[in-house]
Amino acid sequence: MNRFEQFLLSPDILKGIQDLGFEEPSPIQAKCIPAILRGEDVIGQAQTGTGKTAAFGIPVLEKIDTGLSAVQSIVLAPTRELAIQVSEEIRRIGRPKRVKTLPIYGGQAIGRQIKALQQGVHIVIGTPGRLLDHLRRGTLKTNHVQMVVLDEADEMLDMGFIDDIEEVMRFVPKGRQLLLFSATMPTPIRQLAQKYMRKPRYITVNHGEVTAPAITQVYYRVLENFKVEALCRILDSEEIDLSIIFCRTKKGVDELTEALQARGYLAGGLHGDLTQQQRDRVMNAFRQGEIELLIATDVAARGIDVGSVSHVVNYDIPQDVESYVHRIGRTGRAGRRGIALTLVTPREMKQLRLIEQETGARLTPKELPTLEEVAS
Ligand code: ADP
Ligand code: MG
Repeated sequence: MNRFEQFLLSPDILKGIQDLGFEEPSPIQAKCIPAILRGEDVIGQAQTGTGKTAAFGIPVLEKIDTGLSAVQSIVLAPTRELAIQVSEEIRRIGRPKRVKTLPIYGGQAIGRQIKALQQGVHIVIGTPGRLLDHLRRGTLKTNHVQMVVLDEADEMLDMGFIDDIEEVMRFVPKGRQLLLFSATMPTPIRQLAQKYMRKPRYITVNHGEVTAPAITQVYYRVLENFKVEALCRILDSEEIDLSIIFCRTKKGVDELTEALQARGYLAGGLHGDLTQQQRDRVMNAFRQGEIELLIATDVAARGIDVGSVSHVVNYDIPQDVESYVHRIGRTGRAGRRGIALTLVTPREMKQLRLIEQETGARLTPKELPTLEEVAS
């Protein structure tokens, strides 16, 4: 039997899960939900797109006492976009139970967040810096906090949030349950777990390959100053729903976005130098399909979960293997198929081989479509 009913969840939560259209628990959910409900500290490791949010979101929601108007759970997420996305998924599952969730992140007026907190919130989902800000000001009270979640922990550490995370941990009550979710388990994460968790239960559902099998991985050999042209031919010959195109630098994002817009593509850029308002606007337009190509840096696109991303394009080959895994994890989500395309210049072939070696995946070489093929 593999059904959400087996976890003996309350009817409201089951209703929330049903409203979201989840029919059965994913493997990481099936293993994590019972352990978290029992009160264990859990480390959950699974590929991107395997449903880690609900793996902790469901038991966290189950344990909320809506009769108590106080923050009872804190979720830390690496970026504003992720905080919003996680908050939204938890809010939807918790709607029948009337659980109040609030995303808090830098770039949004703090006054508004303070007001929202004063109105009574059960679960706060925040980026480490802004969470700390509220904790230090005393605008986020922790005396009723019973669960803390570190989501996308590897990404938070990559982004240098370790000190912030440790300071947050000093603010929360000793007896709290701590949950940690991550796609990868590098040493600093194991150390963090050792330091703050009581007899952590390590739950993993990796099957050897790091990258999700539903993703077809292809590469094209291109010359450096032919890359824009190559990309356009590829875009014109593939059946793209939505696509995220990765560049190495912010400047690269701006230049490519302009080049694509000038050629009539519905493209928008996303990187850390944009204002929060600009970022929200681009993300909303992308979610609604008003723009079809999201050009982004690694950091800006972390963890983004937009269901209909059919293609991820590595316009610039990723600098390291973890970045490759995270990038292509933006497609092939929730069991759908996805395509990951990587442009490789001759001197980047070594990097490509390294990626293949460490992920255990094989990237299939493909010829660039000719102009005639594109036209037909
Ligand atoms: P991860 O954090 O592991 O990368 P997410 O939690 O973002 O993955 O989930 C990826 C997608 O799968 C989301 O769109 C989510 O709504 C969907 N999803 C999660 N659990 C289920 C489920 N049990 N059945 C169907 N879809 C699910
Ligand atoms: Mg996640």
